[in-house]
Amino acid sequence: MVDLFGQYRKIRTEIDRAMQQVIESSAFIKGPEVKAFEQELARYMNAKNVISCGNGTDALQISLMALGLKPGDEVITPAFTFGATVEVIALLGMKPVFADVDPGTFNMDLNSLERAITSKTRAIIPVHLFGQCADLDRIMKLAKIHGLYVIEDAAQAISADYRPEGLAIKKAGTIGHIGCTSFFPSKNLGCFGDGGAIFTDDDDLAQDLSAITTHGMYVKYYQDLIGVNSRLDSIQAAVLRVKLRHIDEYAGLRRKAADYYDNTLRDLQGLGLPSRVSYGTHVFHQYTIKLDGIDRTKFRDYLKSKGIPTMIYYPVPLHLQKAFQYLGYRKGDLPVSEMLSESVVSLPMHTELNEEQLEYITGNIIEFIKGNHEK
Ligand SMILES: *Cc1c(COP(=O)(O)O)cnc(C)c1O
Repeated sequence: MVDLFGQYRKIRTEIDRAMQQVIESSAFIKGPEVKAFEQELARYMNAKNVISCGNGTDALQISLMALGLKPGDEVITPAFTFGATVEVIALLGMKPVFADVDPGTFNMDLNSLERAITSKTRAIIPVHLFGQCADLDRIMKLAKIHGLYVIEDAAQAISADYRPEGLAIKKAGTIGHIGCTSFFPSKNLGCFGDGGAIFTDDDDLAQDLSAITTHGMYVKYYQDLIGVNSRLDSIQAAVLRVKLRHIDEYAGLRRKAADYYDNTLRDLQGLGLPSRVSYGTHVFHQYTIKLDGIDRTKFRDYLKSKGIPTMIYYPVPLHLQKAFQYLGYRKGDLPVSEMLSESVVSLPMHTELNEEQLEYITGNIIEFIKGNHEK
């Protein structure tokens, strides 16, 4: 699914030198590398404040804490996403409320979101799933009408452009009140361990977010808030500084692979290709197709027998996960999320896919579909 070693090999000298420098400096935590990375990322994203932290899940949790949300407050998030988003809402004693998603873009459905808003709703966490932005223009308008915070989960969409008609171009993660991202190794900007970051244009909020990452201390050893310990270490920051210089090139390589899949798989019966929104770019964290009338297990087994990995992101929508049964949702409540969980398959997608590999993958998919229809 990914080729992290292949990517490392091409920038080995730069990465090795950067890591070596951190080791020799011995400034492993809160060193100058972390500051420099935050500044460089802020410049790239055109974000006023970047606060690094331990991982993407912490970024979401710290954001909810900084906004002063209370137990019992409702936070709306899509049902078709990775569970980190909803877990942190529940951990803080708030109530996760699920919205359904659009079957074409996999992102939050605006009608479903609107129906989920109650007098207890305090925030919306849209997820920019698989690499393109949710419909933030409409989400921000809804949020404004109802007085809600918007925390973008941009863990899969760092470097994606958001450019609705008539508005300035922004980067995913810099549109809501707060944006969160992850530097997990397989993410579009990945380090060699765990890492995450929070974005905000609000300077006061940035101070609170930063304090919460370090035990609620604005000044060392004076605890003003209840915080956590969540930090990016200097070795990860050094790796990320090198990779940040390649981020647009990496997005271009992913898009090129996606174009190849689009062009080759377009007219196949029973395959639904991912749609691209008009108001932004897609950075293809995943290339996810939908099967219609094709047995998913057989499809995956066939490709596996040819040495081609596939994955199901995500096999169970969040409202039907065991851990969230207490919320009282039932099968049928969020039909699009349920349909997607049963029909999606993600194909190999990374920066090192070459034409020969893409031809081999798509050739085998075509073979399978042909055989499937002849039977
Ligand atoms: C990866 C991911 C996260 C969590 O990031 P970690 O760094 O693994 O904690 C949250 N939300 C989404 C949508 C993700 O893909």
